[in-house]
Amino acid sequence: MDATVGHAHAPTTLSEDIARCVHCGFCLQACPTYIELGMETDSPRGRIALIDAMSTGRAQPTPALLGHLDLCLQCRACETACPSGVAFGRIMEEGRAMAVESGARPQSWALRIHAMRQVLPHPKRLGALMAGLRMYQRSPVRAIIRRTGVLARVSADLDAAERSLPEVASASFVQPQQPAGLTKSVAMLTGCVMPHLYSRTHEATVRVLNRLGYRVIFPEAQTCCGALNLHGGDRVFARDLARRNIDAFLDANVEAVIVNSAGCGSTMKEYDHLLAGDVRYAERARQFTSITKDVLEFVAEHDLGALGEVRATVTYQDSCHLVHGQKVATAPRRIMKAIPGIDLRELAAPDRCCGSAGLYNLVQRKMANQLLSTKMDDVAATSATVIATANPGCMMQLEAGVRQRDMRTRVVHVIELLDEAMSARESGAGGVG
Ligand code: SF4
Ligand code: SF4
Repeated sequence: MDATVGHAHAPTTLSEDIARCVHCGFCLQACPTYIELGMETDSPRGRIALIDAMSTGRAQPTPALLGHLDLCLQCRACETACPSGVAFGRIMEEGRAMAVESGARPQSWALRIHAMRQVLPHPKRLGALMAGLRMYQRSPVRAIIRRTGVLARVSADLDAAERSLPEVASASFVQPQQPAGLTKSVAMLTGCVMPHLYSRTHEATVRVLNRLGYRVIFPEAQTCCGALNLHGGDRVFARDLARRNIDAFLDANVEAVIVNSAGCGSTMKEYDHLLAGDVRYAERARQFTSITKDVLEFVAEHDLGALGEVRATVTYQDSCHLVHGQKVATAPRRIMKAIPGIDLRELAAPDRCCGSAGLYNLVQRKMANQLLSTKMDDVAATSATVIATANPGCMMQLEAGVRQRDMRTRVVHVIELLDEAMSARESGAGGVG
């Protein structure tokens, strides 16, 4: 199943994508929202029919219709299940973009789009926000707020939102010193929230790539990948960000563009489709797509040698945009199975969305919590002490689940386990995950 090279996407139109659906319904039982609600309108097949009706003028983008689109996690589990190869992710992106570009989008969508434009591609603004959050989380104010339950008295939703805020790392990511003499080079996406929330994952990624002989370049002109904009219907802005990234990364002249956030990587691997109609960028986008790789996919292609021991009972949550978006399922498992001491226990439904899905857990709290609760039951059944995954959104959501249940379970990116195993080999000591 795992992709070994970047995909090249033949440009297709919305009607061509929709026409591939033969209404068989094989996708229904793969769809988390259909499983929870049992409604055709909240299934992949139903949503395709709604988008088809909207695109042909048989239905208007009413709030009710758009509500069914908004409840879609864009997890793309339906794509994996579909025997006809329906590109559901593209259909949903097109459907949302159609609503936004026609001006029919609800006010909440417009606000979301505005907020994402104003924050995500602006490292200084995002840095200031994260610094404020870090200060709050380390101040006595948080303990007082939680002890007194003041937020819960104002609004249960506000209280739940405060409790599910991600923990900001004590220091944001700074580019590390790298060993001299590395002859090969790759470029890496820094991302928007990852340097602040998971600097440790970035650091682990660089160390692993260095050990495999690669110098890691962080092109200065790179920007946010545009995934959240695209998923929110803001295709115009996502295309701008894609063009900026293509220029930044192709100018670096490297062997591969490495991404350790599956959601970002999935979108970046589809820049060729996003810019297929852009005469200036179509070819460069294809070139970019062909060298973009998820870090686990890239690393698994290399000889990792004998790894040191990491003693841990680990379960793996497939990030939707790695398994369904990028079709990478075996590489992370192969890496973890190569680490002595890891007891890998599969979840009952490892490729079912945890409810994170970009901004989904903020805008669709009820469904996101339902899915998280099912996921945490599933985790508890494995007795794992470590949950490994491959995307910062999943890490945040699973950490929130661990806190809600007061579990003593560590949430990590798979690359961190590999880094620990490589460190253990170097030091000659075993680690405890
Ligand atoms: S999307 Fe695929 S699986 Fe679902 S109804 Fe259409 S053809 Fe069948
Ligand atoms: S992307 Fe996920 S939530 Fe949306 S229709 Fe497909 S399976 Fe259901």
